[in-house]
Amino acid sequence: MNILTNHLPTAELQRIDAAHHMHPFTGGAELAAKGTRVITRADGVMLTDSDGHEILDMMAGLWCVNIGYGRDELADAASRQMRELPYYNTFFQTSHVPVIALSQKLAELAPEPFNNTFFAASGSEANDTNIRLVRQYWAALGKPSKKVIISRTNAYHGSSMGSGSLGGMAHMHAQGGLPIENIVHIDQPHWWAEGAEMSPEEFGLLRARQLEQEIDALGEENVAAFIAEPIQGAGGVIIPPETYWPEIQRICDAREILLIADEVILGFGRTGKWFGSEYYGIRPDIMTIAKGLSSGYAPIGGSLVSDHVAEVIGRSDFNHGYTYSGHPVSCAVALENLRIIEEENLLGHVNDHAAPALAKAIESFADHPLIGEARSLGMLGALQFTPDKSRRVPFKAPKGTIGQIAREACFRNNIVMRHVGDRMIVSPPLILTEEHCEIFKERAGKALGETYATAKAEGLLEAA
Ligand SMILES: *Cc1c(COP(=O)(O)O)cnc(C)c1O
Repeated sequence: MNILTNHLPTAELQRIDAAHHMHPFTGGAELAAKGTRVITRADGVMLTDSDGHEILDMMAGLWCVNIGYGRDELADAASRQMRELPYYNTFFQTSHVPVIALSQKLAELAPEPFNNTFFAASGSEANDTNIRLVRQYWAALGKPSKKVIISRTNAYHGSSMGSGSLGGMAHMHAQGGLPIENIVHIDQPHWWAEGAEMSPEEFGLLRARQLEQEIDALGEENVAAFIAEPIQGAGGVIIPPETYWPEIQRICDAREILLIADEVILGFGRTGKWFGSEYYGIRPDIMTIAKGLSSGYAPIGGSLVSDHVAEVIGRSDFNHGYTYSGHPVSCAVALENLRIIEEENLLGHVNDHAAPALAKAIESFADHPLIGEARSLGMLGALQFTPDKSRRVPFKAPKGTIGQIAREACFRNNIVMRHVGDRMIVSPPLILTEEHCEIFKERAGKALGETYATAKAEGLLEAA
């Protein structure tokens, strides 16, 4: 019998899953003991699990389901494309209609001077492409020593050897020999955790100027690029101080280095603009895209490449590509997704309704005894736990203890929020409404209440 259509009991699915499926970013022992939550279907902003629970998905899957679940138009686009041309490659002077149409559409949506896309199947792959792109760019200009890419601690750029090295996650670098050579990290602009007695504005400038210092320390003739998420996502929805990006842009303008904006989360509407770079007035040379490009309905990513970089790369063979670069089904799905974002004016919905409603809901938790910072920007939000609201201090308990308790409480209350250390984050579908925000406030409120009660009962509210 077909396991996909014959819904086995939850315990049986969990047993098979634990026996045969190795999960990303999950401990095997923990998984076997507790069992996974098995999601069986979804519609709009709501997931349904194998026991029939209806769960509010405040993470849009993994930051990707921008248009929400259950859009038949995307299923139809995939089905049509699979019947017409399920696969063909884009190597060796061949192309196909979906990749041509999507390239044109992206050139239209992206700000000038972005008119070219190099496709991948994911954000990780696209950032691997970027490592080779920027180094090849300088090599083609006769400056092969410009190899070093500067990134930031606690950045997330993917999980392959290259993109994981670009990222600045200590727990990832602790395994498997990362980072690879010629990638260095400066500090993140995380004022709440690291700003000490400085004002956010002072701190933003200080952290931005580390880029200048690092370029000087390495020698400008050795630096290829700086890569950053305009707002760090997986690092904890870290919204930089307002002084940060203008200063970074000033430094990039003054120095001969490329700027890569990793737009994998922000791209396609999350800030209320098509790209986060537009929100901050940044002028990158390359933008990484994935996630919201197809709203997660099919795997696709890519590098949006500005004209001067594309021109230099195009002078010779670029010895790089993936079997699924510009996969026709993914391209067809992405095109339909972009059509929906555009024709249904989802950016307008974000700016006029969804983002203000989310901001109000997030702010409603500002007075909660556990919460030291409640912030949002567009369709991203963060709730920072602290044992002492007045002093921005962490807990004495190991980092992530309270976050983990909160995550379990969210599970129990049928809401998905993610914890990054002792910080809860949200990144819901862009179609979020005020009614969804009411459900969010109610369920998150219960989960936070339970978290506080548990932390108090277990004596975990002590400051470090
Ligand atoms: C998710 C993410 C990636 C990696 O994308 P994958 O499709 O998981 O490989 C890269 N950059 C950012 C900012 C991300 O959030």
